[in-house]
Amino acid sequence: MLEKRCVGRSDEFGVFSSESISANNLVFSFDDWIQDEQEGWFTISPEELKDFSKEERLKYLRYCYDRDFGVIIGTLDWDRAKHLSNFINHSCEPTLIYDYNDNIIAARDLLPGEELTLDYGNFVVNTDQDFTCGCGTASCRKRIKKDDWKQLAHVYGYHFPTFLHPKLEMLFKSEKSVFTAREVMPVVSQAW
Ligand SMILES: [Zn+2]
Repeated sequence: MLEKRCVGRSDEFGVFSSESISANNLVFSFDDWIQDEQEGWFTISPEELKDFSKEERLKYLRYCYDRDFGVIIGTLDWDRAKHLSNFINHSCEPTLIYDYNDNIIAARDLLPGEELTLDYGNFVVNTDQDFTCGCGTASCRKRIKKDDWKQLAHVYGYHFPTFLHPKLEMLFKSEKSVFTAREVMPVVSQAW
């Protein structure tokens, strides 16, 4: 079972699992985590974000994520962020990872009580993030920048949202990378 817990100030949350989850098992399916983007969520371009006031930018950046190059989706009303997946915090050594079909799976075997985290560098391509990471892991990058995905590609291969796959393919081909072919994904199941 997944739980939202307060991890700092009263408006700062994280997502935790009360049960163990095996590596590669499905945690959030694509259909699942887009369900609350119907009301109060809207897409903007990076240029439109620059026109936001400081207060609006702060609000929008809390839950927004990139849908594509040039397309950010988010909300200014934090009450509109309902689905648990909105409260996944960033870590530079995350416990979750994308599969190849926009689903989010366990990056390794997870113990009960572990926080579910994602590397925001997996989906941030339009704007450098304002926060400083304090994940404390050995590979902590401190700042999450819009071009991090180019370096992270060497770590995660094709484990990125599908909108990035064509760019990754070009990158890997230009580098004659070992990631020229997608690895075969193990079968994932939700029974954990
Ligand atoms: Zn970090």
